[in-house]
Amino acid sequence: MTAPSASTPLAESLAKVRQRLNDALSAAGRPTTDARLLAVSKTKPAALIREAWHLGQREFGENYVQEGLAKQVELADLDDIVWHFIGPLQSNKTRDVAEHFAWVHSVDREKIARRLNDQRPEGLPPLNVCLQVNISAEPSKSGASLAELPELAGAVLEMPQLRLRGLMAIPAPGENMDAQREPFARLKEALRALQDRFPEAPLDTLSMGMTNDLEAAILEEATLVRVGTAIFGERESPR
Ligand SMILES: *Cc1c(COP(=O)(O)O)cnc(C)c1O
Repeated sequence: MTAPSASTPLAESLAKVRQRLNDALSAAGRPTTDARLLAVSKTKPAALIREAWHLGQREFGENYVQEGLAKQVELADLDDIVWHFIGPLQSNKTRDVAEHFAWVHSVDREKIARRLNDQRPEGLPPLNVCLQVNISAEPSKSGASLAELPELAGAVLEMPQLRLRGLMAIPAPGENMDAQREPFARLKEALRALQDRFPEAPLDTLSMGMTNDLEAAILEEATLVRVGTAIFGERESPR
């Protein structure tokens, strides 16, 4: 596989997103190393992931377990690729995630955390976990409530095969920058509260911000933005 030339559509869109991220960090007065880019590749073919990898992208997010596993098989030669699971997680899929991903962003209840901990193979480093928060308190959306966080975080911190890294949220769409920042600010405060409560915990991650709101998320101290559309283009059919 030869490295693609710098003029492919993906090379251009990835460069634009990197520029957006750098500009947002500068505008927030933060160093450009302060946040990283997770490329959300759900519904997109393994060949595009490979191309992004050749362009220096290393972290990829998948939402559907079977789809993610199939791509991992195709891309098994890319040894330093880092796979994040970011979709809703049912009990019957925890084993595949525990065995094949480095991160999971969507843990929202103790039962799922317990299964991931029990199923994480001994030979692998602990699974990096973010707790998903239903920050806009939308009925029928995934995520723990803010009130549930201290107990859930305390439980996860007792699980040796999990490493609690932080919080993730997908807020309801905001119409302008102020409206977008508000839920991100609350997630930031929730992470601070956990850091105060569990000072020994490795809580260093705020997973927030997507194609339409990454600037707002960076202003509220996101450390990892999850971008799909702006990198890989529109998805064909939202599943
Ligand atoms: C699809 C998805 C993204 C990426 O969204 P875009 O708007 O395409 O950037 C980010 N996070 C999660 C959890 C997603 O499901």
